[in-house]
Amino acid sequence: MPKKVVVIGGGIAGIQACLDIADMGYEVHLVERTPSIGGRMAQLDKTFPTNDCSMCILSPKMIMCAGHENIKLHTYSEVEGVSGEFPRLKVRIREKARHIALNRCTGCGDCITKCPVKVPNEFEEGLSIRKAIYLPFPQAVPRKVTIDAEHCRMITEKKCGVCKKVCQAGAIDYEQKDSLIDIDAAAIVVATGFDLFDASALRQYGLGSCKDVVTSLQLERILSAAGPTSGHLLRPSDKKEPRKLAFIQCVGSRDAKMLPYCSSVCCMYATKESILVREHVPDIESTIFYMDMRATGKGFQEFVNRAEKQYSVRYLRSRPASLQAAHGESGVLVTYELVGGTTEQRTEEFDMVVLCPGLVPSSGSEALCALLRIELDKDRFVKMPNWKHPIDSSRKGILVCGFAGEPMDIPDSVAQASGVAARISELLQAVA
Ligand SMILES: Cc1cc2nc3c(=O)[nH]c(=O)nc-3n(C[C@H](O)[C@H](O)[C@H](O)COP(=O)(O)OP(=O)(O)OC[C@H]3O[C@@H](n4cnc5c(N)ncnc54)[C@H](O)[C@@H]3O)c2cc1C
Repeated sequence: MPKKVVVIGGGIAGIQACLDIADMGYEVHLVERTPSIGGRMAQLDKTFPTNDCSMCILSPKMIMCAGHENIKLHTYSEVEGVSGEFPRLKVRIREKARHIALNRCTGCGDCITKCPVKVPNEFEEGLSIRKAIYLPFPQAVPRKVTIDAEHCRMITEKKCGVCKKVCQAGAIDYEQKDSLIDIDAAAIVVATGFDLFDASALRQYGLGSCKDVVTSLQLERILSAAGPTSGHLLRPSDKKEPRKLAFIQCVGSRDAKMLPYCSSVCCMYATKESILVREHVPDIESTIFYMDMRATGKGFQEFVNRAEKQYSVRYLRSRPASLQAAHGESGVLVTYELVGGTTEQRTEEFDMVVLCPGLVPSSGSEALCALLRIELDKDRFVKMPNWKHPIDSSRKGILVCGFAGEPMDIPDSVAQASGVAARISELLQAVA
């Protein structure tokens, strides 16, 4: 019987599941589709309710994962085929060509400095640029560069070749092809996380048309010392410090016509971000437009109370009707009505607005679940139909943890990942 487990998704949930399963003595293959493990947590500045530095908690786990004798990382990879039944599953992994010999690349970055091609940086949520050869973020694991074949001029036009000239390690390989790896696995863990709902689809919120409207994940990057503004809170239009900031909750979520469910973490991260901005700009005034306050975790209501009392955060129960650019290109006019108040409409000017969009299953998760032959629930998250084993999918031997199954915060994702490891051990011991 194979003693191997494939974990799909290298965010905090997948990383924790790998570490716990590997510590039990099983061989784990972690499949992550981007060039580095880390997931969304790597993009966060600090985490609620303690406001600990996100990367300081995550980075040691990423390094432990890469160094663990029982864990094999398949980054820039995706699962392409699954056959068989528990506990004899066959998983085919496609390792996409990075055009880099991983055993040679030292991560020195000389190639990045010289590369002439600039493209929007997805890790920085489009707020800065990266090169066609790139390291996704400084703490990336593995610390190896990747050539983005779509934008590399050598690959697309047979012109350039600068990175190969400057690479002292001889790691550049423009001819490299994808490789396929087959694993005999006993079980599979789905930990594919989430994406942000595309708030530009709701034109009334001004994302894309008002320069000073950003998403919550963009604000995380702006607040990060390693981010596009080196941790200075500056609004996009004129790079000035905002003094009056609004957060708008439930953009696209809890809306019968869009995403009917609650994304669960937004009340708390908006509260966290409104505290953090005060630490950057002490006299900033923050307003959170919310529908209901969902502060259900341990210490969460106290966190909200602290934001209100110590950081003077103003909570307004309202869902704004429209956002428009204020004067010329800078600032935003927010039009709203208070819930339970008069029906009078108010329009208030803010220097910058942060949208908190609904969070959706990560792109491609429907196709992956079809491949795995597991069911989805009505909101397109992985269905966990058995309340006695709430981390089992609809198919034996395929388990779920983190945001892939339902919206949840980091501590719950970690707890669920450890639960998955225990469940795998139970299932595999029963068939040993
Ligand atoms: C703005 C914002 C702020 C937040 N702040 C906090 C906070 O302060 N505290 C807190 O507790 N929570 C916070 N959260 C929630 C937190 O980000 C999530 O709880 C956490 O990231 C969930 O981890 P995950 O591993 O399940 O998913 P993710 O972090 O989304 O990781 C999933 C991984 O799977 C990979 N993947 C996806 N599909 C595939 C595929 N088909 N094949 C291979 N790999 C795939 C992705 O590339 C990614 O690396 C915040 C969320 C947002 C949006």
